[in-house]
Order: sequence, then C-alpha cells, then structure tokens
Amino acid sequence: GSNLPDRTAHLAAGRAGLAALPDTALIAASTVEETEPLGGLPQEPYLNQMVLLRTGLTPRVLLQGCLAIEHAEGRVRGERWAPRTLDLDIVRYGDLSVREPDLVVPHPELPHRAFWQRELTELLPYAR
Ligand code: AMP
Repeated sequence: GSNLPDRTAHLAAGRAGLAALPDTALIAASTVEETEPLGGLPQEPYLNQMVLLRTGLTPRVLLQGCLAIEHAEGRVRGERWAPRTLDLDIVRYGDLSVREPDLVVPHPELPHRAFWQRELTELLPYAR
C-alpha cells in the first residue's frame, strides 16, 4: 500500500524490490485498488496491491526484506497509521502460522480488510 506521491511508482518499486529478493520470484500481482485510509487520521487514500511470491526465504527473512524495501522507498516510521510511501505486509505465507512479538502470519488484520480478501481471491488461481 502507498498513500504518498507517487503512489503508482511506490507500488512498482515494491514489486521490483520483492522480485529482486534472493531465491524469490514474483508469480502474480493483483489489480490495484484505491481504498480509504484506516485508523482515523486524516490522510489521502491508499493504492493497494497484493502480489503472490514463490520464495525460499523464511517468513522472518522475508519480513527483513520488506522492511529494507520500505526503507529504500523513503518510508519514515512515525506515528502508527501515519501516511506512508510504501507499506509491505506479509498477509499469508502458504499455510504456515507464525506468532511472534514482531511477526504474526496470517496477518491479524486479514479478517477486517475486505480488499485483502478480494486480492487473495484474485491471486488464488496462480497459487499451487
Ligand atoms: P507497520 O508500521 O504498520 O508497517 O508495522 C510494521 C511492523 O509490523 C514490522 O516491523 C513488523 O515487525 C510487524 N509485523 C507483524 N506481523 C507482520 C506481518 N505479517 N507483515 C508485516 N509486518 C508485520
């Protein structure tokens, strides 16, 4: 997700960054959807997209990769729910469950985000 200019370019950089991670391939990308910001702070709408990756990275190493890509896109970590150039979330990792203080998979917000559920449905046919 991105809600700071240039949103389309930030999403593209996110896709490129993920595809360039070691032992990782980008299999498919969902339609880009515009959504209202969550969390109640006044801010611009988001562009959201989900990608399907095939990866040999563990969830933890994948998360580190996501954080590095966000950082490279100029993401500044401020207030929770604040505007962001690029936000990368691990929504699911196959059928694996992870419950650690800084990494929860499937992402706990999945049941509350209809756009994630739509995107998952869209990508399902590409998953083995
Ligand atoms: P945020 O600032 O909202 O993007 O939150 C990022 C932090 O959420 C990361 O530093 C992670 O440690 C933590 N986190 C926990 N579970 C996940 C997940 N499934 N995907 C991405 N970040 C996660």
